[in-house]
Amino acid sequence: MKHIIILGDGMADHAVERLGGKTLLQFADTPYMDRMAREGRCGRLMTIPEGFHPGSEVANTAILGYDLNKVYEGRGPLEAASIGYDMEPEDMAMRCNFITLKDGTIITHNGGNLSTENGDKLIDYLNANLGTEQIRFVTGIQYRHLLVIKRASKHVVCAPPHDHPNEEWRKLLVESEKGWEDVHEPIFGIDGNPTGEVRMSGRETADLLNDLILKSQKLLSTHPFNQDKERKGQRPANSIWPWSGGYRPSMQTLMQHYPQVKTGSVISAVDLIRGIGHYAGLDIIKVPGSTGLADTNYEGKVAAAIEALRKQDFVYLHLEASDEAGHDGDLDLKLRTIEYLDHRIVEPIYKEVSQWDEPVCIAVLPDHPTPIEIRTHVSEPVPFLFWHKGIEPDSVQRYDEVACVSGAYGLLHLGEFMESFMKID
Ligand SMILES: [Zn+2]
Repeated sequence: MKHIIILGDGMADHAVERLGGKTLLQFADTPYMDRMAREGRCGRLMTIPEGFHPGSEVANTAILGYDLNKVYEGRGPLEAASIGYDMEPEDMAMRCNFITLKDGTIITHNGGNLSTENGDKLIDYLNANLGTEQIRFVTGIQYRHLLVIKRASKHVVCAPPHDHPNEEWRKLLVESEKGWEDVHEPIFGIDGNPTGEVRMSGRETADLLNDLILKSQKLLSTHPFNQDKERKGQRPANSIWPWSGGYRPSMQTLMQHYPQVKTGSVISAVDLIRGIGHYAGLDIIKVPGSTGLADTNYEGKVAAAIEALRKQDFVYLHLEASDEAGHDGDLDLKLRTIEYLDHRIVEPIYKEVSQWDEPVCIAVLPDHPTPIEIRTHVSEPVPFLFWHKGIEPDSVQRYDEVACVSGAYGLLHLGEFMESFMKID
């Protein structure tokens, strides 16, 4: 049996008054997801472990069966994997934004909508002036780059810049985590044994990061690109802002965990999801025109998923658009993204694999709800369905948050989802 997970990011929602008290999945026209729920078996899943924030990187890692307490290392290492930076065991990798400061406050977390091309120029400039054997900046996408520091500690408290618009940046500088001020952790090699080296303490790392932030501000404000922006009255990218750092994740691959998975792929427009897939041992397939929005290249993603599934055993197909519509609080757009997922992703994949001799099990689920009335992620159970040719159905007739409550699987937690999915063989 081959397996494909179709993930609609943030697709689950709450009952909405404008829809007569229905959720969006209940209201939207989704004949194929409903058909698969009717022919297949359903349940609900808690995707966010105790003590973790309901981030997509947390939920998607949990869906793939990993224990977040053992493998979670923040965004830095996931984005490193996505952009092809192979982390060494002594590295500490952080997401490094370019941001805009004015009069001592954070004006944007995106460096005035910086392009990748200009971001790359600024990264080269920072490396030329601040790069050392220990410190390296790596180009990512748009305003989202990477700062890698060898032998640094991840036990520092950093402020995600998008959470602090119009706040004073000086009050948001990096601090050591409590209790880690003077701790020098040992460094472990890829084999899991100590290398004999130790890391900088939390305090030393915080001091180094704050020094880099201050130096970057001096350097960036004199760069011709930013001076030109200032002259035009546009927002310059005049500071770096590192956050969400971590070490190389010690994730087993899916192949090590599930012998029936010999090869597999991840298809997503989102860096974090590609990074998770990389550490899970999956090939990253980049589909031209995949935007992470409602205008994404649905047909290209389906074609890539089907082609991968012909050759491989496992595909993780991730669609971001519903989450973005949820963050925008846009009811009509979110309904449309759900219907697109049904008509343009689920339907063609269902029709294709229905004709194959080789059996394929399909799972459909969101990673977390992004309710349009709250406009952010919540830690609540999500509905899922499993379908393959000849599966014995349960009583669920439709795919939505309410109908799946009476599914055969009941309420699963975290890794139980992947265990149950891979057991279908
Ligand atoms: Zn998500």
